[in-house]
Amino acid sequence: VVTCRQLVEHYLVRIAEQQHLNVFTEVYADESLAYADVIDQKLTNGAAGRLAGMVIGIKDVLSYAGHGVRAGSRILENFTAQFTATAVQRLLDEDAIIIGRQNCDEFAMGSSNENSAFGPVRNAADTSRVPGGSSGGSAVAVQAGLCLASIGSDTGGSVRQPAAFCGVVGLKPTYGRISRWGLIAYASSFDCIGPIANTVDDAALLLEIMAGPDDFDSTVSSQPVDAYTQAQLPASRPLRIAYLRDGVESEGVDLAIREAIQQRISSLRQAGYVVDPIDLSLLDSLLPTYYILTTAEASSNLSRFDGVRYGYRDASVTDLLSLYKKSRTAGFGSEVRRRILLGTFVLSASYYDAYYTKAQQVRRLIREETERVFAEYDFLLSPTTPTPAFKLGEKTEDALQMYLADIFTVQANVVGYPAISIPNGTDASGLPIGLQLMAPPFQEGRLVALAKELT
Ligand code: GLN
Repeated sequence: VVTCRQLVEHYLVRIAEQQHLNVFTEVYADESLAYADVIDQKLTNGAAGRLAGMVIGIKDVLSYAGHGVRAGSRILENFTAQFTATAVQRLLDEDAIIIGRQNCDEFAMGSSNENSAFGPVRNAADTSRVPGGSSGGSAVAVQAGLCLASIGSDTGGSVRQPAAFCGVVGLKPTYGRISRWGLIAYASSFDCIGPIANTVDDAALLLEIMAGPDDFDSTVSSQPVDAYTQAQLPASRPLRIAYLRDGVESEGVDLAIREAIQQRISSLRQAGYVVDPIDLSLLDSLLPTYYILTTAEASSNLSRFDGVRYGYRDASVTDLLSLYKKSRTAGFGSEVRRRILLGTFVLSASYYDAYYTKAQQVRRLIREETERVFAEYDFLLSPTTPTPAFKLGEKTEDALQMYLADIFTVQANVVGYPAISIPNGTDASGLPIGLQLMAPPFQEGRLVALAKELT
């Protein structure tokens, strides 16, 4: 048998060998070895938890008491978490071993992991390409075998899009399924914690353990947590799957991705599923709605980083105003500053109604349209992304091009529904392609059951 110590040693060697991928911002080497010994002892005594032997990395936006947390930002320099995120605590309670924290886009803002103060992460399938973002480090960690699974966060696709770019599984649960306590907030009405893993089974197990009520997060749901690892598809009737016509026909989607989806659709039909095309009349409104509301929420959430309470403080300040100004200017990267400015603008007195209120109204319309789809269908299928992983630097000059990478993923966050990205083959040059499935709120059981059939 393999011991937990041997497992941790194995991953530590892998991490050292693959440093050029720039995945981990800190590795807890000694600590995880010592912890492995404790778990090995528990295993000998037959008293170990359900995650004993699982070596997990956490995205650097999750608090873990006594450990640094940076959110990919300079502004959290030298900051140490004072408490542990509920999701992380639940993993520890089941004897998971946390091996380190993983590089990500600054404050989880990005689609390529190029917005990190710690430099970009590289895709292990082709190191000239991005891993996706914002949980890029977490996806590559699983792809390159640097840990067994990762915990990321998904505000508009940050778990699913990098999972697709890296050929692994990424699951975003229903909004409120997993407590956000201890997750550094980006856009609070969108943020979800989610697992990235090699298999749907691992993702389901991690979800099962992290999910459920928590007194520290008032938005978390009290719905009972299903045994996702045991979940099965209902056998009483043929299941109905809608697919996004644009995802299969639009020129804006890479041919290899469209063909891979088409093949899936044919084989699903052969297997007895009803599979129909649908159009979302509000597809073009998804990204504007998402980016108006998330920047608004981000500008408010990030106001706490003022140079006084956390991390970085500029040395040359003269008064309170210059303390704020200089610390925030030097502490935040350009994408974060862009979003704070945009968010402040859409919330400003003269533009609030034109942008923020309007976007809230459109959010409601998108929710209603999505509800109408799910009144008729059990699942919504689409590509996870319009293209496979792009080259480092390819989209950094053009924020709008970068935002387009999220076209298929943001809907689930705008409406709060669960969605999963699973590997769907590769394109001609061997780059991974992802397929996304979405289900109604709290139907993660069905979601993982179908995902399992497709992997
Ligand atoms: N790429 C999206 C953004 O930049 C999604 C990020 C996320 O899910 N955290 O906002």
